[in-house]
Amino acid sequence: MKYNLTIGAFKWVLDDGVSNEVMENNLGLCDYENLTIEIKGGLVEGVRKATVLHELGHAFFASAGFDPKEEERVVDIMAAQMLSFLQQNKEFFKNYFLEDVKDI
Ligand SMILES: [Zn+2]
Repeated sequence: MKYNLTIGAFKWVLDDGVSNEVMENNLGLCDYENLTIEIKGGLVEGVRKATVLHELGHAFFASAGFDPKEEERVVDIMAAQMLSFLQQNKEFFKNYFLEDVKDI
């Protein structure tokens, strides 16, 4: 499925159902030039969500002007911590960050 995302001043497209042929050995790819995030289709939920957070981390760093080559480990740590945090603090996240969009 494709999702339109706003990250900073830019419009990105995230596709979480990209074929194995396109993805080759990658679970996710962040294309800074075309503003696309591609996620391999068919991943189990936990891996898919961690991969989405990982690739979003790349997009966040890119929008902040960081050099992509230096951020891999930081993005890995942030994605793992974010997924764990979101799963362990669902009520906090929902009430604190999603209060204004609860009608969606
Ligand atoms: Zn990465």
